[in-house]
Amino acid sequence: MKTIVLTFDDASKSHLEVAVPVLKKYGFNATFFISLPEVWLNECPAGYLSHDEIAELYKMGFELGNHTMNHHVLTALDDDGIRREISMCNDFFRKIGAPEAVSFAYPGGPYAPNGAKIIPESGLKYARTTEHALWTCETDPMRIPCYSVCNKQLANFSEGLELLGDRDDAALVLLYHGVPDIAHAHCSTDAEIFAEHMKYLYDNGYKVISMREYGEMLK
Ligand SMILES: [Zn+2]
Repeated sequence: MKTIVLTFDDASKSHLEVAVPVLKKYGFNATFFISLPEVWLNECPAGYLSHDEIAELYKMGFELGNHTMNHHVLTALDDDGIRREISMCNDFFRKIGAPEAVSFAYPGGPYAPNGAKIIPESGLKYARTTEHALWTCETDPMRIPCYSVCNKQLANFSEGLELLGDRDDAALVLLYHGVPDIAHAHCSTDAEIFAEHMKYLYDNGYKVISMREYGEMLK
């Protein structure tokens, strides 16, 4: 079966308000990567999910992934700085009663070799970059590629699907930010376009699952 691993980054309020109803309609799963700057520990600004809304996502059966607390690019941190960023995000998940995270996404996107050494220490098994390729059993689980889709990079949707073709021994990982993204216009995807993409996947028989689910299937 053709498999899409669907991921969302940065806790946009539109993930719950716009994306989730579409995912539910089609029976799709997904991973939501949460980054929550420390200054938001009491209250998140407008445009972002509140703590309760983040909790709502896992209660509905979606996966919450660790995207570090403060979203610093890992290459700019030392080993203890990386440990701190990962553990603060995990502490937040514990606080809201979420299951222990197994999926990670590199803040800012690119692979960070210094991070790849540290990430597995805290039980994280799968780490997503933004390199263009498919996820197969030969992929380094600390370097899972993906295609990032937004209004300005719409071709990535069709290019990723073309690369996947009819293969049933690989998955295409897709990444969306907000649908739309009020805080980051440069990576926003219009709600209508997002809905069209999901309809296309449904109509064409793709299985759409979370990172955790595909990682477990590959074992
Ligand atoms: Zn991010």
